[in-house]
Amino acid sequence: MGYCGLIVRGKSRVPVSVKKKSKVLECGPKTSNLFCGLDYHQFAKHMNLDWQVCSRARLSRDARFDGKFFIGVLTSRVYCRSICPAPTAKEKNVRYFPSAAAAAEAGFRPCLRCRPECSPGTPAWLGTSNTVSRALRLIDESALEDGGVEVLAERLGVGSRHLRRLFLRHLGATPSAVAHTRRLHFAKKLIDETRLPMTQVALASGFGCVRRFNAGIRKIYHRTPTQIRRLARQTTIFPENQYLFRLRFRPPYNWNGMLAFLAPRATPGVEVVELGSYRRSISFHGSHGYVEVSLDEGNDALGVRVQFGDPRSLFLITERIRAMFDLNADWAYIVQSLRTDPVLAKRVEAEPGLRVPGCW
Ligand SMILES: [Zn+2]
Repeated sequence: MGYCGLIVRGKSRVPVSVKKKSKVLECGPKTSNLFCGLDYHQFAKHMNLDWQVCSRARLSRDARFDGKFFIGVLTSRVYCRSICPAPTAKEKNVRYFPSAAAAAEAGFRPCLRCRPECSPGTPAWLGTSNTVSRALRLIDESALEDGGVEVLAERLGVGSRHLRRLFLRHLGATPSAVAHTRRLHFAKKLIDETRLPMTQVALASGFGCVRRFNAGIRKIYHRTPTQIRRLARQTTIFPENQYLFRLRFRPPYNWNGMLAFLAPRATPGVEVVELGSYRRSISFHGSHGYVEVSLDEGNDALGVRVQFGDPRSLFLITERIRAMFDLNADWAYIVQSLRTDPVLAKRVEAEPGLRVPGCW
């Protein structure tokens, strides 16, 4: 397997004991050496990660692997992105996880320095599991809130037990754990990057009430939401109902190519491409607003300005933008296939980082 390859291993099966204990994982007793009720090494053998590739990516802080795996550090009990600027821990003190949810379920806290909530999304293509990719997209659209894992599995045409098994194999966590971690990460982004009152942050990130939100944040970060916001030291004041988000991607990203595609297809009166940015009007549940997307090259991110009156829709809006601008794509992996085609190879080399534009 090449260094740039997707860090998955060949076919593997989740052991019977993991299947039986998937419930334990969902509720999540947090112990230091146990994962999913099993010894970490025992469980690790069944997850689709190539540990040597992870190790090299970690030591070189390779941005191409950002979001493709997470590193749990035993000494500090935090989990990090592959690009974390903190001094690298000794190999014997680290554990690798295929998703942030898996690291959280194993009892690690998100690092406050590299901020795992800011990593690019999980690559859309996960080994051999098209079902997991589709499930992740549906979870992004809040599918789990409309009936839980059973209804989600039904929409995908598989049994709920099978869906849990697939998630454990490819992401190391159940669908519920993945959804919970995403909600928590979005809450952290809102705390750090906006001035939204905490009651609104709780609602926007799907916690339902402030008490549950406060308890959830305290449990994971060992700090109150207010203390976390103080750490972010945000000084910019935005107009009312306006939010600025930074949505990360794995470099390279051909932003000009994306705009060149969108400009001639812009719907008059709805979309505009000008001065290196894309802007469109949006409408959700009777509220109206707009989004403006531009390149934030220094941070390997798209800068997104959202003007919208109902903060409960912010999660959906940012996920739509992620999908529309193909931010989960993994160029380093895709290019390996495209290079094998003699017609495409030259074009790929000439314009690295091309993405597949989506619709709003
Ligand atoms: Zn870190």
